[in-house]
Amino acid sequence: MGLETALPTDAILTTQLQRVINWARRSSLWPLPFATACCGIELMATASSRYDLARFGAEVMRFSPRQSDLLIVAGRIGIKTLPVLQRVYLQMTEPKWVISMGACASTGGVFDTYACVQGIDQFIPVDVYVPGCPPRPEMLIEGVMAIQRIIDENRIPPRDGGRRVPLGIAVQPTHTVQPQPVGLTVGA
Ligand code: SF4
Repeated sequence: MGLETALPTDAILTTQLQRVINWARRSSLWPLPFATACCGIELMATASSRYDLARFGAEVMRFSPRQSDLLIVAGRIGIKTLPVLQRVYLQMTEPKWVISMGACASTGGVFDTYACVQGIDQFIPVDVYVPGCPPRPEMLIEGVMAIQRIIDENRIPPRDGGRRVPLGIAVQPTHTVQPQPVGLTVGA
């Protein structure tokens, strides 16, 4: 990285252990892609060579929850899928963070139906909401960088199911949270 040319090889750097831990965490996020629909295609594009998520140390996608610390939910979640999502979340290692990618994951999107979860934050904590239908890869990258900033600020998610505070870049869901199933409205 060029540090060895800028610093004498026998130099000693002092810092706080917590800063080193946070630096390691932010630089080696292991995402678990929970992609159920079209947003998943943009998620794949983000990891491909054009957008190169590897620049942020987060290209190692794992479908093994116990090896992952960043859950990226990309796509709509059906009521029947929800128990799977919750189990995956619970099996992930601590500390762990969650990105809700796209309108469907965050609010149900255009799928205002009884079969579709109207926002995953009703059931699992969400750290960053990435808006869009679908979000472009640049937007997801900004979401990953937002997670990195959370880690830099030493904001470890609460263990006991506390609700996380979305960042400024995130679009907070404006929908009224309702218990499932939500009422189905047709027409005006
Ligand atoms: S937000 Fe749009 S692109 Fe993403 S899963 Fe929903 S319909 Fe598809």
